Amino acid sequence: MKLLVTGGAGFIGSAVIRLAVSKGHEVVNVDALTYAASLENVASVSKSPLYRFEKVDIRDRAALDRVFDAHQPDAVMHLAAESHVDRSIDGPADFVETNVNGTFNMLEAARKYWDAKGRPEGFRFLHISTDEVFGSLPADPEIKFTEETRYDPRSPYSASKAASDHLVRAWNETYGLPVLITNCSNNYGPFHFPEKLIPVVILKALAGEKLPIYGDGSNVRDWLYVEDHARALLLVVEAGKPGRSYNVGGNSERTNLELVRTLCAVLDELRPAAAPYADQITFVTDRPGHDARYAIDASRIRDELGWEPSVTLEDGLRQTVQWYLDNEDWWRPLLGRKGVGQRLGAKG
Ligand code: NAD
Repeated sequence: MKLLVTGGAGFIGSAVIRLAVSKGHEVVNVDALTYAASLENVASVSKSPLYRFEKVDIRDRAALDRVFDAHQPDAVMHLAAESHVDRSIDGPADFVETNVNGTFNMLEAARKYWDAKGRPEGFRFLHISTDEVFGSLPADPEIKFTEETRYDPRSPYSASKAASDHLVRAWNETYGLPVLITNCSNNYGPFHFPEKLIPVVILKALAGEKLPIYGDGSNVRDWLYVEDHARALLLVVEAGKPGRSYNVGGNSERTNLELVRTLCAVLDELRPAAAPYADQITFVTDRPGHDARYAIDASRIRDELGWEPSVTLEDGLRQTVQWYLDNEDWWRPLLGRKGVGQRLGAKG
């Protein structure tokens, strides 16, 4: 299959590309290379004859038309987005422009291409979205997000992703474009940009700095190893039913404080310091509108497509910490990028 992957120089998109190329798929990586991107993420496949890169911004419709025309993909996996909630609080405009208008451009470019080819039945447009579109859950462990949960986004980031999900569904209902949507929980793993909780904690711990926990650390997230997510996305594009959405989750709910304590314990073991790393934990002003709990019911993708997470949170965190210990050459230069290491989105 020839896949057009947007956002392939980012965290999840690059995991998708590494997996797709290893399975023999041809891939065109379409990425504008924003502050969050690194072509190092795909260095392991960049010499492959199966891989192509197009430095293109999804806000540029004419450039997208050219890319579709030049590469003639069988399917689109659309991951390009502004992805950091804290940045969306300080500067929501980029989120609307890329996540909403950019997705609109992708849909229109894909529709034009698909129409011109005679509407091939096998064509797929997979939109990669988040569980954050569903809002916040109460503490009751029986209650989880299903594909039928009402949309209730709370942050500029999740509102922009919800808007793009609605556009994608409308392009299926109105124009018949064979779309799919996945809504996934929090990812973690190698190549995670050092502004997100897990890499921030690992790198600040190693630097002997305070480990900032928003509020009282009781917010619950469901964590999924990024390579399990990549596997789910390839499965959905290959075997998912057009018009359908699939929730993807790790079945690994933890409070932020539990997660950070676990990371500290792994670091104590792998890189012992004079004092336990947990001594560096500090509580800071909460994120405005911080959703209390996310939890995913992933039974649809399990029952219909046979997907389940394969990496436990404990194993995945250990592998991730070891990866950051082994890959300073990757993360050190990223610490100099704009806003990295600073508290963003605190004011609301
Ligand atoms: P990321 O920030 O690591 O990567 C985003 C990539 O998109 C970057 O390479 C960036 O250069 C590119 N990009 C941004 N704006 C662009 C534009 N205008 N044109 C072209 N390229 C552009 O993000 P990620 O964490 O890999 O997330 C990928 C997708 O998965 C996003 O759509 C996100 O909403 C979704 N998602 C993420 C998570 C998570 O835990 N990280 C969970 C569920 C869903």
